[in-house]
Amino acid sequence: MTTQEKLSPWTPDTNKTHLRVLGKALEELTECGSAVARCIIQGIDESEPVTGKPNRQWLQEEIADAYATLGLMCQYMKLDKSFIFERSMGKALRLRGWIDEPLVASPFLYEFWCQSVQRRFIERASPNSTEFVLEIGERH
Ligand SMILES: [Mg+2]
Repeated sequence: MTTQEKLSPWTPDTNKTHLRVLGKALEELTECGSAVARCIIQGIDESEPVTGKPNRQWLQEEIADAYATLGLMCQYMKLDKSFIFERSMGKALRLRGWIDEPLVASPFLYEFWCQSVQRRFIERASPNSTEFVLEIGERH
């Protein structure tokens, strides 16, 4: 046992593809969080003062980015998509009571979304694509 192992039981993941997939998902999730925060402090129908980009547009873009990277993470890390989908359905049903308007719980169509994102990424992959896309495509 090395000195480092004696100091901490944690063993960091050193798999470069894991780090790419997990890191990108975290980056996009935090960008989505920033967009949500902007909508809270300025209003969803306001715009970024310097660029003029509407907050609603930015939020939509970051939600899309987060969905995309979450799907890739689920696929690559072999997460249980059925469990995630069922839990998201339950969560959406519980949270719907928080909203005054009568909404139908509509968790994102996880399987459809995940498969369509995967299909588009792999269809666009070419020998000159980024290593990230090619590694995902080759794995499955
Ligand atoms: Mg983004």
